[in-house]
Amino acid sequence: MEIINERQDLGYVHVAQQMLEPCLVFFQQWNNPEVVAVVLEDGRLLASPGAWRKHFVELQQIAFAARNVCPVKLFCEGPAAMIREILTDADGQRRALEIQSGVTQYGENLAKQTLSDIVSEALAVDATDIHLRMCGQDARISFRIDGLLCWQGNRSRIFVTEVVAAALNTQSDDCSDVFDERKISSASITLTLPEPYGEVRIRAQKSPCRDGFTVTLRLQKSAQLEVPALAALGFGNETVKQLQMLMQQSIGLILISGPTGHGKTTTLAAMNRLVPATRKVISLEDPIEIVQPAIEQKFVPNTAEHNAFSEMLKVVLREDPDLVEVSEIRDLETATSAVSAALTGHLVASTIHANDAMGIIPRLLDIGLTAVQLSQPDLLAGLIAQRLLPRLCQHCREIDMRLDDGAVWRRNSNGCEHCLHRGVSGRVVISEVLIPGNEACRFIRDQDFHGWREHLRERGWRSLASEAESLVRQGLVSLQDACEVVPNMRIQAFGVSAIKEENYADSI
Ligand SMILES: [Zn+2]
Ligand SMILES: [Zn+2]
Repeated sequence: MEIINERQDLGYVHVAQQMLEPCLVFFQQWNNPEVVAVVLEDGRLLASPGAWRKHFVELQQIAFAARNVCPVKLFCEGPAAMIREILTDADGQRRALEIQSGVTQYGENLAKQTLSDIVSEALAVDATDIHLRMCGQDARISFRIDGLLCWQGNRSRIFVTEVVAAALNTQSDDCSDVFDERKISSASITLTLPEPYGEVRIRAQKSPCRDGFTVTLRLQKSAQLEVPALAALGFGNETVKQLQMLMQQSIGLILISGPTGHGKTTTLAAMNRLVPATRKVISLEDPIEIVQPAIEQKFVPNTAEHNAFSEMLKVVLREDPDLVEVSEIRDLETATSAVSAALTGHLVASTIHANDAMGIIPRLLDIGLTAVQLSQPDLLAGLIAQRLLPRLCQHCREIDMRLDDGAVWRRNSNGCEHCLHRGVSGRVVISEVLIPGNEACRFIRDQDFHGWREHLRERGWRSLASEAESLVRQGLVSLQDACEVVPNMRIQAFGVSAIKEENYADSI
């Protein structure tokens, strides 16, 4: 047996094409990346140490199968990673060739049809994303529904790879890239689906992982959808009034925080509906997620190398807007431009990644603004935070624990037909709105967030945690989901005894 440590020691590598399929089957059947083999045209059977050790018999069968097409003359051992690379390269080249020559035309159409089917299925259950993860010979398909990942089933890995290829090739012509499992690639695709879905935009992102690759398809429903009103999104009367007041300010900075996928952009769009028609709104976005006919939306491709947001902010200020929006503040340049726009007599609104409303300040300090800048009176008009919580299915929810004045409910792990057996259906919004006054400016200048929080608590300020608590008490949300999603959410808030808490811990 010849031992080969590196690819260059192999010399000229040419895989025996007739033996490619049996070698792929051999590789995929063990579900073990360390077990891999390939037959080279010069008669070498190259296998990993794991393959020789555990599957010697099967390797001999491969050699036997090769006797008429490419007789094996020499057994070699080499690193599994190297052999995997040779094998997948050869596979990719073969498929690319087949596609060029139109051999797989039928297969490609079938793959596109399957993609449409999977996307339609996802839209039917209101999924926001489709996740495809390669797992041995299988591809796991999951949908994200109401913020939760739901496993849908497995399909053959080879087939799903073709589906992904079909997806990524619709617009991009880098088909060899797609077959190279080790490369990251992404593409935007527009699919035309049968009614009622129509055109759907999909952002596809593929990246390598331990066992091949994963693909995330983010579904962007057609942008013509009407922007919902704040009340329809689930905001309470008090909050709607506060937000309405904010949108009527003439100067200052309004920031909405929350994790990705928790509806910040939708909220901002809904807030725009509260702006009187006598005011001009210019919104700089990357990408434009929701089409809002009432305002002026500009697509501003923003990259790390080129900060188009801050540049465009300065430009549009000369276009006499009353309200300027930037889809997200994530760097110092944009933050500085937003602050100076707000300080020169404009109302500026944006979103930002922060844990809660107060957390926006440390985040801005992190980005590079100073406490002195941020504590200027009239700069911060409103700090908002929001979360979306899975809504308990009212048909099948179960009692989690009894309280003196009611009960806490939890998901039914089997669900029912109303909730697609998930125990939850839809999401409810919770939010907190902070309108910094003079005292807040002092806390910000001193960076005394603890003191600020105490100050708010004394005044009975409604935080995310208190909103979540009231939803839990209403039986709309489970305590477990609330604790997972909401910062500073405490089971203790329910004043239940330690014994009940233990029971609770056992039940999850
Ligand atoms: Zn039911
Ligand atoms: Zn249910």
